[in-house]
Amino acid sequence: PAMLSNLQQQPADALLALIKLFDADPRADKIDLGVGVYRTGQGDTPVFGAIKAAERKLVAEQDSKAYLGPEGDMGFVTALMPYIFGKASPDMGGRIEGMQTPGGTGSLRLALAMVKRAGYSRVIVGKPSWPNHNQICADLGLAVSEFNHAGADGKPDMDAIRAAVAGAAEGDCILLHGCCHNPTGIDYSNAQWDEIAGLIAEAKLLPIIDLAYQGLGLGMEEDAYGLRRVLVAVPEALIAYSCDKNFGLYRDRVGALYAMVSDPTELGRIMSNGHNLARASWSQPPDHGAAAVRLVLEDETLTAQWLDELDQMRDRMRQVRAILAAAGKVGGVDLAPVGGQNGLFSIIPFTPDQVQEMRSRHGIYFAGSGRINVAGLTTANIQNFIDATAEVTG
Ligand code: PLP
Repeated sequence: PAMLSNLQQQPADALLALIKLFDADPRADKIDLGVGVYRTGQGDTPVFGAIKAAERKLVAEQDSKAYLGPEGDMGFVTALMPYIFGKASPDMGGRIEGMQTPGGTGSLRLALAMVKRAGYSRVIVGKPSWPNHNQICADLGLAVSEFNHAGADGKPDMDAIRAAVAGAAEGDCILLHGCCHNPTGIDYSNAQWDEIAGLIAEAKLLPIIDLAYQGLGLGMEEDAYGLRRVLVAVPEALIAYSCDKNFGLYRDRVGALYAMVSDPTELGRIMSNGHNLARASWSQPPDHGAAAVRLVLEDETLTAQWLDELDQMRDRMRQVRAILAAAGKVGGVDLAPVGGQNGLFSIIPFTPDQVQEMRSRHGIYFAGSGRINVAGLTTANIQNFIDATAEVTG
């Protein structure tokens, strides 16, 4: 008998469904605060100038597209390391090795498949989190144990993470957002990272750190503080990195997985599992975007241009956050905490009905959770958003 018909209908991705709703709305002043891409003050998501220049160079100079292997472009993987792990010790004395992956998602998929293969059975993760964290764990048969990421005061809930780590069992690992927490925008302070690093080390938990927005929060170095702090405290860790936001490469799928181990002689054996899992999944990562990143990082002028473009992105998001924060109490919600949050996202405590009213009455679209993409706001539409929020929540 034909069995494909056994497959059940799966829910559509809520954010992709939201794009369709937005597109179908005829109002000229509608606002899209849904999908997670950066937008300029004109509402565009342009290709970085530094990437355009690198792509031109790639077209002119690349003489082969022959296979590279499951690890991808190792020049790209190595060139990123000083930015992630610090210029002083980019490989922690030979303890870190990486491989290229299709985006941060590919990296997370490999990291979680590796921990599963290593015998871990449960992942501790703050809630809410990026939905794909749970989805990948479920698909791999890893249990998830959730703790509250933030409290009602809009600050990280330190008691919750303390309790989660204290309650950890053998076979647990912990998945943390390195910066620009998605969806809340609520990041740990440096002092909180210091404590968390100690907690994880003491509990002998394996950390998996998801760094998908380096440079979009407070700066390239500042956004790496937590990751680096954890790495000096623990013997082993996995790092899932994405270049899709900080190089604007979204659909080109650029990321890397790094493993840090205590004994450098074990690195080859451990990473051979990443290679072998990649081989069984996508075989080899797509080359183009990673090659463009490598060309940017190999060229001082292009590197400076990239960092400058990234600074402009971050400054714009900080300006939007400052305007929302200055509006303070608006109707029934307080926008002040948005100013101290980082990255593309914040959660505004709209009720589900209010989310619908923002859409139907004002043409302002964002996720049902109240997560807004702050980069969707511009000088042209931010007052509309504030007024609509006041009206709908008042
Ligand atoms: N991790 C988090 C927290 C994210 O928000 C995202 C993207 O939205 C990713 C990882 C993966 O990004 P990508 O696979 O597009 O590189």
